[in-house]
This record gives sequence, C-alpha cells and structure tokens, in this order.
Amino acid sequence: MAIQATLILIKPDGLKKSLTGNILTRLSETKLEIVGAKIVRVSRELAEEHYKHLKDKPFFEDLIKYIQGEFHGRRKVMALVYWGEDAISKCRTLAGATNPEEADPTTIRGAYGRITTSGVYENVIHVSANEKEAEREIKLWFKPDEIIVNIYPTKEIIEKEKKVRIWA
Ligand code: UDP
Ligand code: MG
Repeated sequence: MAIQATLILIKPDGLKKSLTGNILTRLSETKLEIVGAKIVRVSRELAEEHYKHLKDKPFFEDLIKYIQGEFHGRRKVMALVYWGEDAISKCRTLAGATNPEEADPTTIRGAYGRITTSGVYENVIHVSANEKEAEREIKLWFKPDEIIVNIYPTKEIIEKEKKVRIWA
C-alpha cells in the first residue's frame, strides 16, 4: 500500500457531455482526497508535452486537437489531483481500458467513451498510469501552491521583474 497522487483530466468530450458530476461521483467511490482542481485552457505546447510519449503515433495530431478541445468547441479541460492510498490503480480501474469499446461498460470510459469515425478514442478522462508519469504530469499541470498537500519536494526562489496579472 502506497500513498500516491494521480492526475485526472476530464477531457473536452467529458465537459461537453456534461459528465463532470457523474465522473466525480464515480471517482468518489475511491474515498481518495481531491487536493488540487482547476479548469485549464490547453495550449498546444502543454498538449504536446503531456502526450510526448505518443509523438510518433499516427493519431498524435488528432489527439492534440482532441485534448485542446477542437472537436468539441470547448477549449478547456478540468484538471484534478487525487491523493491517497493506491490512488493510481484505484483511479485507473474506475476509468477502464484506453479503448472505450474494450473498456468494461461499468467503467467511466466504457460507459461514456466512443471511438470517432477518424479513429480517436474519445474516452472522457485521463488518469496517470504509474507513479513516475503521475509526478511528471502533476508538475506539468499544477504549481506547488495549487495543491494543498506537499506531494513532491519544493524550493523557494525570488523571481525578479516578472509580469503577472492582478485584479484591476
Ligand atoms: N489514443 C487513441 N488511440 C490509440 C491510443 C490512444 O486515440 O490507439 C488516445 C486516447 O484518448 C488515450 C490517449 O491517446 O487516452 C493517451 O494514450 P495512452 O496510451 O497513454 O492511454 P491512457 O493512458 O489514456 O489509457
Ligand atoms: Mg497514458
């Protein structure tokens, strides 16, 4: 038993189909804790970095468009960090297989996913596959201050001359 963190993304199809509530309800079965959550507009750079292990796949370009919301008219995803005992396997099991047609129908992907005519697996959520991937992805999507527990070591630096947006 290990205490783990995992990145969950509710992908643009999940948001478009109004599945946020259903997906969060399913994930609450795990009794894990949500320690970070936000809505993110996904840049091409972020999309490519997130899926860099799939760069050579024939579906890569469609996958980038998919996660950026180009197929669903909603350029956003919901990003969450779930934390607790065996978080990764618990969330992966609830999510189901990558291919929504092969996923058990009682899983999130099996219930809500589909394969498009161009062959993209629109499987409504992303879940980190292992601890190494979870660490890379959580650090890619979240800043330390956006997560309410200390999952990974941090350090403090002083940033000078940095332009930031504040309330007017
Ligand atoms: N994907 C796809 N076709 C494939 C394999 C993957 O469209 O043959 C998409 C699918 O949306 C999947 C994502 O690419 O969730 C990332 O693929 P990965 O192999 O990492 O699967 P996952 O970890 O999401 O189950
Ligand atoms: Mg993966």
